[in-house]
Amino acid sequence: MPKASMDDNKQLSFFPNETPAQFLSIDASQIFNHLQAANTTKKNVVLLTSNQRLSRFRLHGYEQMQLAAGKAAWLTPNILPWSAWLQQQWLASDLGVWLHPEQENLLWQHVIAEDEQTLVLNSKALSKQAKDAWKILADYFIPLSCLDRPSEEFQALARWGKTVGKATTHTLQHQVLAKLTKASQQPIPDTILLDGFDVLSPAQEAYLLFLQQQGSQILQVVADQTPATLSISAYADEESELRQVCQHIRKLLSESPELRIGVLVLELEQKANLVSRIFSEELAPHLSLSMDLDKQGDYFNLSLGAPLAKQSMVQTAFAILSLSLKQTLNVEDYHQLLLSPYMFGYAQEKNTRAAIDAKLRKDNIEQITTLRFAQVLAQHPVPLLQQQFALILELQHGENFAGKQPISHWVMVADKLLKAWSWYEQNHEEAEITITLTANEAAQVQNWRDMMLQLTNLDDYSGWITWSQAVTRMQEQAFEHIFRPAPGHANIQIMGLLESRNLRFDIAFALGLDDMAWPPAAKPHPLIPVQEQVKFQTPHASSEREWMFASSVWENMQFLAPHLFVSFASNKDKQEVQASPFLWGQPIQKETNTASSRYANTQINHQAPTSTYLDTAIPIQSSEKIRGGTGILTSQSACAFQAFAQFRLGLNNLEKPSLGLNHREQGILLHAALESFWKMHKNQQNLSKLHHDNLLGDEIKTHIHQAWLSLNGAFSHSIKSLESNRLQSLLQQWFEFELSRNPFDVVENEQWAILNLGLRQSLSLHLKLDRVDMDKAGNRIIIDYKTGQPKASQSMGERPESPQLPAYFIAEENLGKQVDAVTFAKIRNQDIAFEGFAQENDVLPKLKAYQGKKDLPQDWSELGTYWKDVLNELADSFCEGHADIAPKNKQTCNYCDFSGLCRISASSPKDSK
Ligand code: SF4
Repeated sequence: MPKASMDDNKQLSFFPNETPAQFLSIDASQIFNHLQAANTTKKNVVLLTSNQRLSRFRLHGYEQMQLAAGKAAWLTPNILPWSAWLQQQWLASDLGVWLHPEQENLLWQHVIAEDEQTLVLNSKALSKQAKDAWKILADYFIPLSCLDRPSEEFQALARWGKTVGKATTHTLQHQVLAKLTKASQQPIPDTILLDGFDVLSPAQEAYLLFLQQQGSQILQVVADQTPATLSISAYADEESELRQVCQHIRKLLSESPELRIGVLVLELEQKANLVSRIFSEELAPHLSLSMDLDKQGDYFNLSLGAPLAKQSMVQTAFAILSLSLKQTLNVEDYHQLLLSPYMFGYAQEKNTRAAIDAKLRKDNIEQITTLRFAQVLAQHPVPLLQQQFALILELQHGENFAGKQPISHWVMVADKLLKAWSWYEQNHEEAEITITLTANEAAQVQNWRDMMLQLTNLDDYSGWITWSQAVTRMQEQAFEHIFRPAPGHANIQIMGLLESRNLRFDIAFALGLDDMAWPPAAKPHPLIPVQEQVKFQTPHASSEREWMFASSVWENMQFLAPHLFVSFASNKDKQEVQASPFLWGQPIQKETNTASSRYANTQINHQAPTSTYLDTAIPIQSSEKIRGGTGILTSQSACAFQAFAQFRLGLNNLEKPSLGLNHREQGILLHAALESFWKMHKNQQNLSKLHHDNLLGDEIKTHIHQAWLSLNGAFSHSIKSLESNRLQSLLQQWFEFELSRNPFDVVENEQWAILNLGLRQSLSLHLKLDRVDMDKAGNRIIIDYKTGQPKASQSMGERPESPQLPAYFIAEENLGKQVDAVTFAKIRNQDIAFEGFAQENDVLPKLKAYQGKKDLPQDWSELGTYWKDVLNELADSFCEGHADIAPKNKQTCNYCDFSGLCRISASSPKDSK
């Protein structure tokens, strides 16, 4: 067994008022031999790490060593983080129930809520603070008498802590363990290897010294301490810093794919989303759409987790549990039930389930009763979902959800419900279905089970509660429970600064070292007197303490790799910042290039299969059925890719149901009411008579009533009445405006027409003309109703935003019909007008005769030919299959559903084709 050297003694902590503990040191290169030798000599050797990541790193290293030695199997070494080891010791000491952090939180919450002397609005946030404060007092041996001051907060903490202390000795674990270990004579480890501890709290130190006195050998692991060569860069902002570091990493890996790269990010918790997004976009662009965490782990490993409640499987679990609480499902509920891949039978029925979801949305079903939902399912071929849903309804009625029970009872009910839905059943024999969970999904299920198990131990603290309260408690717990995806073996490890101690890489990056962040500002705990915190040197107590701590971390950081690239962003939160004082005096390279590579077209994983494809236009085949009207031209004109996605690939975004009518439905209702009205009344003369006889209001009401039949959705009485009143007032204004026109007859009313476009007439559009009037002067007027803000100018140019008027004009001309005006009818509250084109003045109120402009037709007679050329060009471009990602302008993308597909945000102008 390798010998530790006395010459290498290291001080582990820096408490000015205490004598730091002296432990022998051991070189990191020796620890695996030490652990391996322990297996032969049957010695109890444990390697304790300061964090989970270091434990994994060491276990992986040990595994590699065994594989390199040609072994196929070996004993797992005793490597674990301090917290897990402490828990093990506690349980072995038979001290009673080990409180998980969530249980502790609940206990504190309970105590604070019960305290009659305190009026607390947010006992949850306060309980966390109080728990932390109590732990600091215990860990730093600060006498409780320090709370005996004329301050409400300190006195409250003393009261709560004493009550909690009666229930558990948990927060004093180190001291209690020491006493108990002594009393029980339980075996202690022969050797403890301490790995990666920058600081030991006095309680940790005392426990270790106690074990040392009892005969344990305590050794501190010292990793290679060759100082790195430093390169320091200043970037314009945080995004530039991250992107350019990614580009640097990409370059390094393309030259040496085996490099192990460490990336330290200061304030990682706050920046986690940004870091994850940019690393995905830059290093695994093909995953940034799917956000597949399993696969993301093959490229980089990000140490932070996310609340369990936000994991997709767990969201599905809550959707199932919530069913029992509801008689009505809202859109998120039915979407989850229909489209979650974790719902039983999803793989077999996903297409039909998606179609049901789309249909319900299209019908603007914002809420649906569970009984009605079951009926909808019965109308579709989704037998597996029908069967599960029927079962849940049956269970709901059979299970007693009423009354109050301990939470452990409700955990069992939840388990039963989830089993009924086969939520995490990997095999379902009856349906002969086997589901294989990915490592990430399996980890989610395991975390869920652990969380539920913890809840069963909360009966003493949570009392008897209702099922609804229990589900809320489960949700709260799932938000507190941090889920970390199963670690991949990525060679890029992204971590917070404090996780890096004793890790070694081939290359390392440290980001965010600016003077605001490092050293961090002092932040004493608000529930403990500051003087005591300074005296006992508790974490964040004073700027001196923070400076010493940061110095120690900075010193260790420089041993991380032979080369360390340090950086910071000069602009942070709209403020200018400087380099951290630790970097002062060193040359700093100012990086001015803020351009991003954005989705570089190669993946960093060289083993990943790549495919080559020819990016050319795909003309429409004769067998291909294209359905659509002027929407095809509108889309093609706005962006060829948009038209391709919508009309060639048949993609459509899901509609978002709203409580009232959406814009589309409001439009349908208005068109239908006008169609019905003119079908009956035919001309202005009849309109005028109705108006004169004071019958117009009643007549409008009748046609609105008729128009409701053209809408599919089931609308409540109040929505119908609200919408009918709105439309009544709008149509009243419109008809009064129509009375100011020259007398007219309605000659066509919602008439279908076919328009063939393209040089070979290969695109057939189905048009529906809202209305065509003939006035007494013999003018033929095409009218298109609009409830938005139409502009006539949008019909002009090579890429018209509104090609409807040109299309109607040509369609009528092609049929040999005369056109004297073509116009939008703007029908908005207090905003009624015609917006369009007319051959002469005063064909319609305030509509002037068309006059030519530069680069546009010079007079009315040229308009038809001009529009024909424009529309034929668009039609040909569509039929030839041009699908360039070329939005007409920046606003185009704001109204498009396909940005996730075309990834416009990732394109540079030159690669837009
Ligand atoms: S988001 Fe913009 S670029 Fe992409 S398809 Fe839509 S309009 Fe075109």
